[in-house]
Amino acid sequence: MLGLMQNQDLSISSLIDFAQKHHGDVEIVSRRVEGDIHRSTWATIAHRARQVANGLDQWNLGSGARVATLAWNGYRHLELYFGVSSSGRVIHTINPRLHPDQIVWIANHAEDEVMCFDMSFLPIAKQIHESCTTVKHWVALCDADKLPTDTGIPGLLSYETWLGQQSTAYAWPTLDENTAACMCYTSGTTGHPKAALYSHRSTVLHAYACALPDVMCLSARDAILPVVPMFHVSAWGLPYSAAMVGAKLVFPGAALDGKSIYELLEAEKVTLAAGVPTVWQMLLAHLKTNDLRFNHLKRTVIGGSACPPAMIHAFNDLYGVEVLHAWGMTELSPLGTLSTLKNKHLSLSDEDKLKIRMKQGRAIFGLDFKIVDDNGKEQAHDGKAYGDLWVKGPWVIQEYFKQEGASPLIDGWFPTGDVATVDADGYMQITDRSKDVIKSGGEWISSIDIENIAMAHPEVLMAACIGMPHPKWDERPIVVVVVKPGAKLEREQVLSFYEGKIAKWQIPDDVVFVEAIPIGATGKMLKTKLREILSTYQLPA
Ligand code: ADP
Repeated sequence: MLGLMQNQDLSISSLIDFAQKHHGDVEIVSRRVEGDIHRSTWATIAHRARQVANGLDQWNLGSGARVATLAWNGYRHLELYFGVSSSGRVIHTINPRLHPDQIVWIANHAEDEVMCFDMSFLPIAKQIHESCTTVKHWVALCDADKLPTDTGIPGLLSYETWLGQQSTAYAWPTLDENTAACMCYTSGTTGHPKAALYSHRSTVLHAYACALPDVMCLSARDAILPVVPMFHVSAWGLPYSAAMVGAKLVFPGAALDGKSIYELLEAEKVTLAAGVPTVWQMLLAHLKTNDLRFNHLKRTVIGGSACPPAMIHAFNDLYGVEVLHAWGMTELSPLGTLSTLKNKHLSLSDEDKLKIRMKQGRAIFGLDFKIVDDNGKEQAHDGKAYGDLWVKGPWVIQEYFKQEGASPLIDGWFPTGDVATVDADGYMQITDRSKDVIKSGGEWISSIDIENIAMAHPEVLMAACIGMPHPKWDERPIVVVVVKPGAKLEREQVLSFYEGKIAKWQIPDDVVFVEAIPIGATGKMLKTKLREILSTYQLPA
């Protein structure tokens, strides 16, 4: 017997319709590439998203056609998010920090038909337009008077000219909820990038999950600032979740330095911000140097790479901002787990609470996980046994785009490539990516643990731990350190800092001081690059 309820497909158009109808006057504030602050509303975004849809129809762009963006977080990007997907096309966000050759490879692989770019990426567009063989339309995300005449890009149109020619009336098509909506390539830290292709259904379910009280706890009373870029995994789905709850959105554009972010957080009364640890490092440094406080910020979601406990402590204990440590990946839309306390933890000391907050968190309804050994055997949830982390759920990848038939799944589970422990309360903690884990004398050493301890040293700005080949132990850890400006630090001071904090055999064999640690296009440390830089390094005898 079937249930007798309405069978309505989940759709991205329903999100923008909802935001327009019930939260139409809520502001969308953007710092533009031009430097000024632009103010819009959900109602205006919805109107302009319909103009985008009409514009794509006028070009006879078929359903499923890919519309690519090379853009910062801002209102025009948001309009494209909703206009492209709601009209049955696929929004393909490309990371502009990638090498131009990689961008060309990705655009050709995706067979993008339209390329929309912020003016700061005009030099990239000029460089790649001849090689992007499938792109028929180039759109500069700017006003008509900001468009230079001599770009050399045939038919280049300003976004405002394009939109100005379109009606704001558009009836969204009824789409099967499994229709493709958004495309995002993995960062390609290993081999060629691969594309995850999200559906309307997966995107809406992910948006529900993010908004839950024990996840990001989003509501119509929030002003959300995604520092995490819209060009990488849909800014962790925040544009969709914000529409779902009618929250205000505040976009930082290209200005991601501590001062600019702080000014926006304060001026726009932001209650929740989200980003990778490297961005928050700059913000915290700005606060400390200028002796500032947060007057509105309540929560900050930190993920993308492990959040050092020292950062959680600074936000929570010095500035009264709750850190929500999250783990996810492109293949998961991206949210996998997030760390919030359970009722029984509320009476714990600050130190014990920190131990829970620094874990990557517990399962969110909809996304199941397990840790397994090399034979796929599930490991104990005792906080000690570690294993490969496998996940499954309705917003987890089934297959990569153009690799259909070559399923990455094992018995229906997606192997994440991360290594983790799970404690008795169900909190998962990433110890490493499987390729970063250090294997010493048959035991594993977590590079994240080594980094976290170094990062807690008051003179250390950044730390990366990598394994070096060792004749007896296979591998031994070394820690690569960047000291804070003006600070002085000796090798022995770093090594003695580890004493009593981890087992003796886990303490790194050496410390290498560097000016900077290479950072990849998504703000993560590039250990592959670091290994290249240290290719001639020899462990001390
Ligand atoms: P890529 O896999 O190409 O680097 P992603 O942005 O999808 O691109 O990265 C996902 C990976 O980032 C995860 O598999 C994990 O290794 C790492 N990661 C994400 N969040 C965290 C976190 N909170 N702690 C530790 N590692 C994390």
